[in-house]
Amino acid sequence: MSAIEIIKKKRDGLPLEFDELKRFISGYLSGEITEYQTSALLMAIYLNGMTDRELFDLTRAMAQSGDNLDLSEFGALSVDKHSTGGVGDKTTLIVAPIAAAAGCTVAKMSGRGLGFTGGTYDKLSSIPNYRITPDNSEFLSIARKVGVSVVGQSESLAPADKRIYALRDVTGTVESLPLIASSIMSKKIAAGAKNIVLDVKYGTGAFMKTPEDAALLANTMIKIGKEFGRNTAAVISGMNTPLGFAVGNNLEVIEAVEFLRGKDIPDLYAECITLSSFMVSLARGIALSEAEKICIDTLKSGAAFKKFTEWISAQGGDISYILNTDIFKKSNYSLEVVSNEDGYITAMNTEVIGEISCILGAGRKKVDDTVDYSAGIIINKKTGDRVSKGERLCRLYTDKNQVLTNAAALYYKAVTVGKTKPDVPPAIHSIIF
Ligand code: URA
Repeated sequence: MSAIEIIKKKRDGLPLEFDELKRFISGYLSGEITEYQTSALLMAIYLNGMTDRELFDLTRAMAQSGDNLDLSEFGALSVDKHSTGGVGDKTTLIVAPIAAAAGCTVAKMSGRGLGFTGGTYDKLSSIPNYRITPDNSEFLSIARKVGVSVVGQSESLAPADKRIYALRDVTGTVESLPLIASSIMSKKIAAGAKNIVLDVKYGTGAFMKTPEDAALLANTMIKIGKEFGRNTAAVISGMNTPLGFAVGNNLEVIEAVEFLRGKDIPDLYAECITLSSFMVSLARGIALSEAEKICIDTLKSGAAFKKFTEWISAQGGDISYILNTDIFKKSNYSLEVVSNEDGYITAMNTEVIGEISCILGAGRKKVDDTVDYSAGIIINKKTGDRVSKGERLCRLYTDKNQVLTNAAALYYKAVTVGKTKPDVPPAIHSIIF
C-alpha cells in the first residue's frame, strides 16, 4: 500500500495493520515518505484515535525503529521508572538508589529537560565529572556491580519517536492519547526493563491538567506495557506545586542528597516512597506493603544514600560534591522574592515557575540551549502555607543579573495569596496496577 493509501485509510476511520504502520515509519525515517504526508497521518490519528491493536502495533513499530537494549541478564529484577515530566522532579536521583539498595537493578536512560520541565540528564550532568554517556558495556557493568546506572537517552533508541515527536510539536498533534502513550512506551519497551513504574502527573505543571486525564493516559500505557510482557504500574501524582523546594539542577541534586541523608520533605517523601515501593514490589514479586517497609528501611539505615554515592562515583562523579554539597558553584546573583501581603498561598502556577527557572538559565527553550547548572529557585512557601507581608516566598539564583527583575515579576504572577487556607490535595492522587 502506498503512503497516500495508508493516509486515506486512516482518514476514513479504518484501522491500520502493523505492516502499514511499520512501512510508514521506516519510509519516514528513510526520507521516502515526506514530512507533510506524515503530518497528515498524524492528524488522522489525532482525529480518529486508535484501536488497542493499532496502539500496540504503532508502539512496536516505533520500538523496532532502532536499537533495543538487552537487560535479560538481570532477569526479573530490572526496573525502570518514567515520569511524564514536572518541575522540581528529582525522584530518579532518590528512587533509583532506594530500589537498588532493596535488591533491584535500575539500568535506565534519562532525557534532557526541555521547556518548563527539567530532565534527570541535566541534573546528573551537573555533578562534576559524572559520565552521562558511557558506552553500553560500561553502563551494563556499573548496573551489574552497583545495581544502578543512569545514562543519557541513546540516539539510537526509538529514533522514529524523536522525529515524530518534533513533527507533532509543530502540527498540533501532541495532545493525542494514542500518540503520547505509544511515544513514551516505545522508548520504555526499547530500553529493556522487565518492570516499569510510570509517574503520571497532573496539574498546572503537567501535560495532563486533571487526575482523570492522567489516569486515562496511565491506563493506556499500562495496557501497552502488559501487551509487551512488562509488569507495569502507574502512580498518579500532583504537579500543582513544584515537587520539594528546589528547582534547578545543582539545587535539586543538593535537595536529593539532603533527602537521602534524612531531611524531612513531605511531598517528596510520599512520592519517592510510593514510586520505589512499586518498583521493588514489581521487580521482587512481593506485596506493596512489604516493599514499602523495605524502602523506608533503606532510607532510615542510610543504605540508599550509600548506594547513591556508589552509583555516582562508579560513573565518575566527583563524590566530594555529594559529601559536601556546599562546594557546588554558587550563582553570581540572587534575589529574594517577598510577599506583598498577609494570607495563605492558595495556588501556584507550576508551569510558570518552570518557565522562570528556564529564564534564570536552569532549562532550555530550544534543544541546543546551554544550561547553567547553578541557576534555579529555592521555594520557601508552597500552597497551603501561611505567609506574612515581607516574608520570603522564594530566592532566585542566576548568573544573568539582567533577568532577575523580570523573573521576580513573573513569580508574583505565578503565586496567588488569599485570605482563606486552601485544601491541599495529597502528593499522590492514586495508584493503578
Ligand atoms: N513525552 C514523550 O516522550 N512523548 C509524548 O508524546 C509526550 C511526552
